[in-house]
Amino acid sequence: MAVNGGDEFPSMDVSGIPTPVCPVCGGEWLVIPVKFCKESYTIGMWGTNGHCFECKSQITACTPLDFPNGWGMGPEGETNG
Ligand SMILES: [Zn+2]
Repeated sequence: MAVNGGDEFPSMDVSGIPTPVCPVCGGEWLVIPVKFCKESYTIGMWGTNGHCFECKSQITACTPLDFPNGWGMGPEGETNG
């Protein structure tokens, strides 16, 4: 368990639940490893283990497969059991 004292926000470990935003502070900037496509200079792949840029909480970044009820369907608020 990492100790990150002295910050304005307490660092929490909310990893394990794929999310597009930080569940703790709602921040939309997530720090995750990315793999660039050499042909297009765009992001081709990304890792899911990362942390929130704002509050440094550990998070699990989402992928299209994690979209509720499948990609392209509206979210129903269900959670993965
Ligand atoms: Zn956060």
